[in-house]
Amino acid sequence: MPRIVLVQGDITEQRVDAIVNAANPSLMGGGGVDGAIHRRGGPAILEECKRIRETRYPDGLPTGEAVATTAGNLPAKWVIHTVGPVYSKREDRSHLLAACHRNALAVADELGARTVAFPAISTGVYGYPVEEAAPVAIRAVREADTRVEEVRFVLFDRRAYEAFERALAEAR
Ligand code: ADP
Repeated sequence: MPRIVLVQGDITEQRVDAIVNAANPSLMGGGGVDGAIHRRGGPAILEECKRIRETRYPDGLPTGEAVATTAGNLPAKWVIHTVGPVYSKREDRSHLLAACHRNALAVADELGARTVAFPAISTGVYGYPVEEAAPVAIRAVREADTRVEEVRFVLFDRRAYEAFERALAEAR
């Protein structure tokens, strides 16, 4: 089981082997953490995303799946792009949010990454309440069969940090 570390901050500044991007299926960039990663990482990331669309995923990256690119100018070596579920009040999509974490860690294993930073996937534009997302994310990482040694959740604001802190305390 990876060691879980929580920090409040900006994921683009993390010195880890891989950072996870809360992407959208197009892989063509967007707002939120996706925009920050492409802005700080430079055009090499988008170039690789375009090649992935032309080859492996012509219809876009399905929700819950993960794929790696270079991290360009970021301190990390790789960006692992995953697509979180859009929140729905009527339907439980937590299995898709868990799949993002599990599949991102599987890609990290293929790369040989040992330290991986995650944002709070789906809790921005995709509308997942962070109090609901945090326990799903923590449990998925704790249950993952992976060689990753450290998972660092990088929470952008105080509220997300506190939600993850509670979820971690309750999981122990
Ligand atoms: P999604 O579409 O999956 O909801 P968003 O990027 O809109 O993705 O939001 C996901 C989370 O990432 C939100 O909690 C948002 O506050 C956070 N976030 C935005 N920018 C950054 C950043 N630079 N580093 C870490 N987290 C960030």
